Amino acid sequence: MRCLTCSDGIARYGTNRCDRCTRADRRQAAARIKVTISATATGEVLEERVIENDYLIVCAGNRYVDGVQQYPGKGTTVLTVKTDRGAGDAA
Ligand SMILES: [Zn+2]
Repeated sequence: MRCLTCSDGIARYGTNRCDRCTRADRRQAAARIKVTISATATGEVLEERVIENDYLIVCAGNRYVDGVQQYPGKGTTVLTVKTDRGAGDAA
């Protein structure tokens, strides 16, 4: 059976949509998300952020972002995460 959305793809068994259209829906649904950071020990919410078509990197303990390299032409960002070996348990 043809995908009812794009009519190019073949619908997955048990659905009326192809994999590509299903993935596009998932991306769209997740384009805007809320991230909540809480302390496991207390349950206290430490930070809440809403991001849309963006990313959020979360570090805990002795991990930190040491570098950010952006390549706009390629649509790529490279993040360097390091371990502060002088600040507790090392990896
Ligand atoms: Zn489709």
